[in-house]
Amino acid sequence: MGHPVLRAKARPVDKLELKQRTVQDFIDSMVDTMFEYSGAGLAAPQVHESLRIFVAMLDPDGQGEGDAVVFINPEITVIGDQTLEGWEGCLSIPDVRGRVPRAQHIKVSALDRNAKRFELDLKDFAARVVQHETDHLDGVLFFDRMKSLESLTYLEEYSRYHARRDKDDEDQDEEDEDALTS
Ligand code: ZN
Repeated sequence: MGHPVLRAKARPVDKLELKQRTVQDFIDSMVDTMFEYSGAGLAAPQVHESLRIFVAMLDPDGQGEGDAVVFINPEITVIGDQTLEGWEGCLSIPDVRGRVPRAQHIKVSALDRNAKRFELDLKDFAARVVQHETDHLDGVLFFDRMKSLESLTYLEEYSRYHARRDKDDEDQDEEDEDALTS
């Protein structure tokens, strides 16, 4: 946080550029970095490239790099009007968590790394990750989406006071959702 690229609007990647070796290598290194830092997602501006690219793990149980989904030039359409508040963290704002309202249901259209268009219908955890990452492409950080900063919490206090309480009565997927960092 504080690097100007994180507050800039990233530029789209055209199909020819996407096929270049340098861009493909960059995507591979983003996936590696996301895993190295245990993120649910990583957007190019977070590694100081102002390009509309992010990688994400949409299945909270996904483990391998083969489960990483690559999004180029994503466009989100919100479906319905339900908003859910959930805990988020960000690799660009280490060790801080806060409660962020997000649309519960979205559709996202993007290019994959082979420049082929795909569309996904996403809810809950996956919808939250994609909204968080797409915000990074527009220079928006999760603080900006919070209704108030009252829930802002250091990771240590989050683990001590909030994570366990929120896990009561919830299943495994929702426990993972509490830990979203991307
Ligand atoms: Zn982030």
